[in-house]
Amino acid sequence: MSMGEKRTVYMDHSATTYVRKDVLDAMIPYFTEHFGNPSSIYHLAGDSKKAIDTARAQAAKALGAEPDEVYFTSCGSESDNWAIKGIAYANGKKGNHIITTKIEHHAVIHTCEYLAKEGFEITYLPVDKYGLVDPTELERAITDKTILITIMYANNEIGTIEPIAELGAIARKHRIPFHTDAVQAIGNVPIDVKAQNIDLLSLSAHKFYGPKGVGVLYIRKGTKIDNLIHGGGQERRRRAGTENIAGIVGLGKAIELATADIEGHNKRIRALRDRLLSGIMAKIPHAYLNGHPEKRLPGNINISFEFIEGESMLLWLDDEGICASTGSACTSGSLEPSHVLLATGLPVEISHGSLRLTLGDANTDADVDFVLEELPKVVSRLREMSPLYKGKKEGGCNVQ
Ligand code: PLP
Repeated sequence: MSMGEKRTVYMDHSATTYVRKDVLDAMIPYFTEHFGNPSSIYHLAGDSKKAIDTARAQAAKALGAEPDEVYFTSCGSESDNWAIKGIAYANGKKGNHIITTKIEHHAVIHTCEYLAKEGFEITYLPVDKYGLVDPTELERAITDKTILITIMYANNEIGTIEPIAELGAIARKHRIPFHTDAVQAIGNVPIDVKAQNIDLLSLSAHKFYGPKGVGVLYIRKGTKIDNLIHGGGQERRRRAGTENIAGIVGLGKAIELATADIEGHNKRIRALRDRLLSGIMAKIPHAYLNGHPEKRLPGNINISFEFIEGESMLLWLDDEGICASTGSACTSGSLEPSHVLLATGLPVEISHGSLRLTLGDANTDADVDFVLEELPKVVSRLREMSPLYKGKKEGGCNVQ
C-alpha cells in the first residue's frame, strides 16, 4: 500500500479467494503455448491431455479418491446440480424422495425445489441452534423411496462443520447415495471420501485460491447417475464441453497446495480469527456468535448485532476499506433474512444484523487490529441512528 492509498482489508474468503501466485504461474502456459484442444490428435493436444491427467490425480489425492472418479465441471453450482439431478433422474423408478437440510447453499436448495416441481419429494432436515444436523433425525427421515441424501460438509454462512462420516455411515447402511457439498470445507478439514462413506462430493476452485469457473464432482465408481451437460465425449462421456485446461491446471495446483498442510494453515487462521472474535465480543455489547463455538471453519466469524441492519453495516465497513458479508441479502428491494440463521432459530430482527467475516491466507495481525478499531465505531454509529436502540437505552423497548 503506498502513502495515502486507502487500505483494503479483505475478510470475505468464503465468497471467493484470490488466485495464489504459484497457481497462476502453473496456469499461464495453458493460455498461450499449450492451448491445444485435448480432443485433437496432434502433439499440442497431448500436452493438454497430460495436464488434465495431472490435475485429476492431484484432486483425487486430496480427496482419497481414484483419478477416474474425478470429473471437472464449471463451478460448485454445476457440481451440486449434476449430483442431485443426475441421481434423481437415474433412480426415479426406484423412488422419488430426497433428503437434504434447511441450511444448504442455494445451489442445493433451489435444485431440490426445482425437482419438487417435477414430482420429487424433499425432506429438509432441521438443525440445532448451532446449525448441526442430528444423525438420528436423518435416519428417521429415510423411507423406502429415498434415493439421495445431500448434506453440506461445512456451512458457508455460519461455518458449522457437520458430522459427515456419521451421516455417510447412515446413508451407506441404508444403501442410499450420499452427496456432500464440500465447497467450503476443502483445505480446512481433511477429507477422505472412502473412510467417510461419501459417494458424491462437490468442489469449486475459487474457494481455495484457485481460479473461478472450474469445479469438481467426485462420483464413486459404480454410482448410478445421469449426465447433466450433453454434447461431446469429454470427461469419459459424462460431462460434455471443451475442457477449461488452464482452469483445471489451476484447480489441480490449488488443491495440492490447500491440502498440503491443513493443520498448519488452520492454526494460523484460527489464531487470527479467535483474537478478532474475542476483541469484537469485548468491545461491542449485544453481540451474539452464530454457529458452533468449536465445530466451525477456522476462518469463520458470524455475529449478530442487535439494533443493526446488516446491509448498512456492510456499506459503512466498505467505506473504511473492509470487505465482509451479511446474512441478509437485498433481493428485489426487500431484505430477505438468511434461511440459515432462521433455521438455527434466530429471530428475524436479529438475523438482519448479522455480519460474516471470513479470514484467509491474505490476512495479518494488522488486519485484525484494523477491524477491531473500525467495526465498533461503525456499530455504535448505526445504533445511534436506531430508534430501537434508543428505546433500549431508555428502557422503553425490549427486542425479543
Ligand atoms: N456451495 C457452497 C457451500 C458455496 O459456498 C458456494 C459458493 O458460495 C457454492 C456451492 C457455489 O459455488 P460456485 O460459486 O462455484 O458455483
